[in-house]
Amino acid sequence: MIQHDVVIVGGGLAGLRAAVGLAGQVDVAVVSKVHPVRSHSGAAQGGINAALGNAPDGRDDSPQRHAFDTIKGSDYLADQAAVVRMCEMAPEVIRQFDRWGAPFSRFPDGAIAQRPFGGGGFPRTCYAADRTGLVLLQTLYEQCVKRAVRVYDERLVTRIVVGDGRYHGLVVYNLKSGRFEGIASRFCVFATGGYGRIYRNSTNALINTGSGIGAALLAGIPLKDMEFVQFHPTTQFGTNILITEGARGEGGYLVNRLGERFMEKYAPETMELAPRDIVARSIQTEINEGRGFEGGYVHLDLRHLGKERIVRRLPGIRDICLDFGGIDPVSEPIPVQPGQHYSMGGIATDGVGRTEVPNFYAAGECACVSVHGANRLGGNSLLDTVVFGQLAAEAIAGQWPGDGFRPDEAAVIESVRQQEAEVEQLLSRSQGTPPYQVRDGLQRLMVEKVGIFRREEELREAVEAIAQFKRLYESVQLTEPPRPFSYEVIAVLELKSLIYLSEVTARGALARQESRGSHYRTDFPQRNDDAWLRHTVARLEGDEVVLSYSPVDTSHYEPKARTY
Ligand SMILES: Cc1cc2nc3c(=O)[nH]c(=O)nc-3n(C[C@H](O)[C@H](O)[C@H](O)COP(=O)(O)OP(=O)(O)OC[C@H]3O[C@@H](n4cnc5c(N)ncnc54)[C@H](O)[C@@H]3O)c2cc1C
Repeated sequence: MIQHDVVIVGGGLAGLRAAVGLAGQVDVAVVSKVHPVRSHSGAAQGGINAALGNAPDGRDDSPQRHAFDTIKGSDYLADQAAVVRMCEMAPEVIRQFDRWGAPFSRFPDGAIAQRPFGGGGFPRTCYAADRTGLVLLQTLYEQCVKRAVRVYDERLVTRIVVGDGRYHGLVVYNLKSGRFEGIASRFCVFATGGYGRIYRNSTNALINTGSGIGAALLAGIPLKDMEFVQFHPTTQFGTNILITEGARGEGGYLVNRLGERFMEKYAPETMELAPRDIVARSIQTEINEGRGFEGGYVHLDLRHLGKERIVRRLPGIRDICLDFGGIDPVSEPIPVQPGQHYSMGGIATDGVGRTEVPNFYAAGECACVSVHGANRLGGNSLLDTVVFGQLAAEAIAGQWPGDGFRPDEAAVIESVRQQEAEVEQLLSRSQGTPPYQVRDGLQRLMVEKVGIFRREEELREAVEAIAQFKRLYESVQLTEPPRPFSYEVIAVLELKSLIYLSEVTARGALARQESRGSHYRTDFPQRNDDAWLRHTVARLEGDEVVLSYSPVDTSHYEPKARTY
């Protein structure tokens, strides 16, 4: 049995920030299914928001303005006190990274450079060319190495052991040995990232299956606002690799087949820099109404920016276009289409990451505080991971050594045994359904029926189809016993989470009879604050997903119509 005071699951920005916050005070370890620097945080391109006011046209920026933009962007579903706190902490987050040596891009006067991003009233997105996540993740990893944080990589958490209202430990599948192990700790922080891969067309890494969020749901911990799924407007046509919003922040145009800059019709003031939900729907409308190009895409045109600016500010985007599309954005427009990108919902937490289970925390994309509400602004997620990773660490350190609680190791050992028995049972089936068949079907279904535009009939069909996938799961078969790096085993172990997360997403979307932020119902196109200014809370009772609702904190800004 592996034992530590605090175990953090996830080696992305949220997990590593929590680890740095706890190292030296308690015995802390990080568990991750991949090496930390291969986490999806490293793929973040565009930047991280903070009201530094460094840009010549951004001098009047302030944390209050940042908070207001975030709340308006969230279509007023964000919890406002949490947003205000995040935005107030943002400038110090950037300064801390600067002191740790993160190589931010600079203005000629030496100040950290800031570019405009969608839905932000000022240029407030700090960046390192178009590789911001990579440099922040490497910087934090360095700090973990310096503090000798113990890392268990290539470990997939499959179960959370909860008993008597407390967290006790985890069951992990060791990818290197092909064996299950038990971990016991007094506190746990989940920082397992998003669940983008319940969709087929996603900018997310293939590891972003959401199995961490799924494990929480299956352990009885509630999830919040899962129907709010962000579709990024500009992903490379065909591969769905992200083309950062920074490309539009630098001045890129969106153009349809008729050569029109169509954002004029949808958001005349902010144009290409309207929030993501609006730009994604506008592109999809152009495509659906026949003004896209054959196959379903529009053009993102950067040519007028010139080679020098593209090479200096967007080098990674140019590489992606050349390597995966055979197109040079210096001389040709980039074919783009919307694709799943971010999960606003997640494990329900309070303002410092605590869940309903008092010694179990969550931070980063797997958590729903909620600071993004119904739609996240670009550049706010990197900020969220670092702020709430830090706050979770401070909350745990602040109550250390706590009430002397000792995890029930026998319960963890029993849970490992049950997991092994479950795998034995899957192996004993002489015939059955391959896990990939269920997974691929599910991912397609989510794109087709729980996508950018939603309506009752399709959502009902999705819920029914997911029920069938659940039945099919009962016949899933493992063809080979667990071996080192067996992908079939990983696929099977994560499948149940995928099915349940799809169900929670579809059920939440079906129930919410309004349009708000990323959740757009063609049959209920208006926002309805009287009935729906509330969070969706989903929990598992037996095998049943049960939905309830909780109030939204609107203590700072009164909800208004959202126009751009
Ligand atoms: C292509 C792309 C570009 C982006 N660009 C930006 C941007 O410019 N600005 C911005 O603000 N946001 C951006 N985002 C969003 C942002 O990057 C993410 O929301 C954020 O990095 C998530 O960080 P995290 O620490 O919560 O999780 P991740 O970085 O996703 O890390 C999750 C960790 O959990 C581990 N894990 C997951 N499940 C398990 C399990 N079951 N067992 C064990 N370990 C597990 C993984 O191994 C990984 O270490 C982008 C996202 C994408 C996909």
